[in-house]
Amino acid sequence: MSAPRYAVFGQPVIHSQSPWIQTAFGKAQGIDVDYRAIEAAPEQFAAALEAFAADGGVGANVTLPLKEAAFSLCTTTTSRAQRAGAVNTLLRKGAAWHGDNTDGIGLVRDLTGRNSLDLRGRRVLLLGAGGAARGVAPALLDAGILELVVVNRSPDRADALADAMGEPGRAVSRYWDDLRNEGDFELIVNATSLGRDPGASFNLPLSLVNSMTTAVDLNYGEAAIPFLAWARAAGCRNSFDGLGMLVEQAAESFQQWHGMRPETDPVYAELRERAATLVTGD
Ligand code: NDP
Repeated sequence: MSAPRYAVFGQPVIHSQSPWIQTAFGKAQGIDVDYRAIEAAPEQFAAALEAFAADGGVGANVTLPLKEAAFSLCTTTTSRAQRAGAVNTLLRKGAAWHGDNTDGIGLVRDLTGRNSLDLRGRRVLLLGAGGAARGVAPALLDAGILELVVVNRSPDRADALADAMGEPGRAVSRYWDDLRNEGDFELIVNATSLGRDPGASFNLPLSLVNSMTTAVDLNYGEAAIPFLAWARAAGCRNSFDGLGMLVEQAAESFQQWHGMRPETDPVYAELRERAATLVTGD
């Protein structure tokens, strides 16, 4: 029987750091991990995933733009994947796929573990309502925040995200243009891909920031520069990018496939050294 295979599916997938991260985790744990990047357009994804399973594929990550499609291809899913409506981790169970979403726990581990933030009782502003925002919103609520305010360029998606959380007292949507009336926040999370646009800049009121505010961008590399520049100019106490989340969500996937939790600090340190050259993604 051939060795179990692992992969990340996406389009484009060339910049994904997942093969490097999963191989590094494997080396540290003494496992020879066969993990590759597989480019798949949305219309080819179901067939590519079946071919992968037939060829010994037992676990996969899924990145843009396939996370919602992955959710619909799973026979079973975790409750956090259901709340996100998106899957980034696939595990073969018998002849079917089981889906999970590790993005949210990845962010929370990075915030509370690596950056020692206590999220309990915090007001949190979430910018964006795409796949990544849907993954992190439930995890932030589960971590005990006081309130989650969601804004998005397309307001209907912010409404849908807030509604999907099922906690109208804690998760609410607002218009981006009304943010100046929203008071201040202890945590501001950028889950948009705006920073990828050439010449991007963030139009956010300074009144969002207080003396305790932490700003975190899920992006890293060049795509994180515009938001982190705004955060520093606005006087945020701390600001950091999405590299820590990237490593933590990968560790959670690794644990599900191999039954052991890898050390994340050495892998994070290596990625941090070449952060400026990385292209954002997961
Ligand atoms: P999606 O394409 O699903 O969502 C993109 C989001 O960005 C939407 O809310 C969209 O708004 C918003 N947006 C895009 N362009 C603009 C703009 N010009 N102005 C304002 N808002 C804009 O992407 P994901 O949610 O999957 O990913 C978001 C970012 O997070 C990506 O850059 C991705 O690389 C990063 N990421 C990082 C991870 C990590 O581990 N560090 C994990 C997952 C994602 P609208 O709805 O109006 O289109």
